[in-house]
Amino acid sequence: MPAEQPAVFFDRDGTLIEEVHYCSDPSQVRVIPGATEALLKLAEAGFALVIVTNQSGIGRGYFTHDDYNRVHEEVLWQLKPAVLTAAYYDESAPDRPSARRKPSTAMLEEAAREHGLDLSRSWMVGDKTSDIECGRNAGLRTVLVETGHGKDHLGCGADAVVPDIGFAADFILQETACAK
Ligand SMILES: [Mg+2]
Repeated sequence: MPAEQPAVFFDRDGTLIEEVHYCSDPSQVRVIPGATEALLKLAEAGFALVIVTNQSGIGRGYFTHDDYNRVHEEVLWQLKPAVLTAAYYDESAPDRPSARRKPSTAMLEEAAREHGLDLSRSWMVGDKTSDIECGRNAGLRTVLVETGHGKDHLGCGADAVVPDIGFAADFILQETACAK
């Protein structure tokens, strides 16, 4: 059986792309400066790159699965030449029960099963407490970025708090190098 690969899981809104209120149109997508370079460095170091995103705007009726897919295509386009391993989303509104919505670990476990990922060597990067709790619940190490809503979630208990995704990548690579 091939060795399992470590991954970095990313929240999308406020972490990989600028936070906008319920991003539902490709014209609203702005990748955070330095995101592409951060992803390229992590991929080079051997990490799978996976988006895990709550998209309650679908469950609330603000936009559709097709809208999400069009936004996702634009995100992938703007992140080139970095290439993501996979992306998972949960569409449920917060007032509906969901087994998948972060801080549930379900999307991480699904990704691990489908892509042979080693969660014990993986990381979660996000801008909200729900991202950090999701990572911690699955035994990952966690990094909070101060972009998006990050500055309102500084007390979330992340292993590190950094200005943005570029610093998050550098922190992960530094910690990984130290562990070797
Ligand atoms: Mg976010």
